[in-house]
Amino acid sequence: MADEDQILYEVADKVAVITLNRPHRANAQTMELLDDLNAAFDRAAADSGVRVIVLRANGKHFSAGHDLSGGGGQRPDKITLEHIYALETRKYLEYSLRWRNIPKPTIASVQGKAIAGALLLIWPMDLIVAAENAEFSDPVVFMGIGGVEYHGHTWELGPRKAKEILFTGRAVSAREAEHIGMVNQVVPLESLAGETMRLAAQIAQNDPFGLRQAKRAVNQTLDVQGFYAAIQSVFDIHQTGHGNALSVTGYPVLTRLEGMKEKLKSQ
Ligand code: ZN
Repeated sequence: MADEDQILYEVADKVAVITLNRPHRANAQTMELLDDLNAAFDRAAADSGVRVIVLRANGKHFSAGHDLSGGGGQRPDKITLEHIYALETRKYLEYSLRWRNIPKPTIASVQGKAIAGALLLIWPMDLIVAAENAEFSDPVVFMGIGGVEYHGHTWELGPRKAKEILFTGRAVSAREAEHIGMVNQVVPLESLAGETMRLAAQIAQNDPFGLRQAKRAVNQTLDVQGFYAAIQSVFDIHQTGHGNALSVTGYPVLTRLEGMKEKLKSQ
């Protein structure tokens, strides 16, 4: 049963604020959380009184990624690649692309750690405001997978840095992310909410159709450059990682350390 409190939603002064609200689990993403998040984005997109959408998170960390403790609750006894492929197409690939294409400006407001699946929420947003303590990482190579389901890496970081952070699994600091051009602003943690809302309020003053078309102009340019096709084909590369892991361990990810499987399950 869905926990409605996993996502909070409010609108004030033409800005919808959507909040990840599982701070006790570092906002790890259950399937219910993703469904509720998608519903919140739909609501904001459909509300003519909303001009800008802010995505933020309660607690120390933006998100620890996908909840690997079985938050979906419907895993079959025998996990097949067909099952994983269908689930991840719907909940990860399609959701992230939908959010990327919402016809209103979106802003991610990020503090603390943003790990792996967190990037599936952050990268699809139009603008990113990061606190000085924000860290972005995708360490799934440790688990035998070549990156999270939504391959923003090369587009967001450039090919050289994308390879480095995938190969090493290391985190990118807020300052480094700003230098690369992955985030728009880095602000002190205590100013994060204020600066995010200031930026949202500034954008919300502008004509909604102008904003919609400005967003479409940039997204369409990326799509003509191959963004959409690349996202689709790299998703399939991602699935070969799950397929390999299933063939080796019977579990969708390989384990780098003894017992990591149990650790991941119990997180
Ligand atoms: Zn996956």
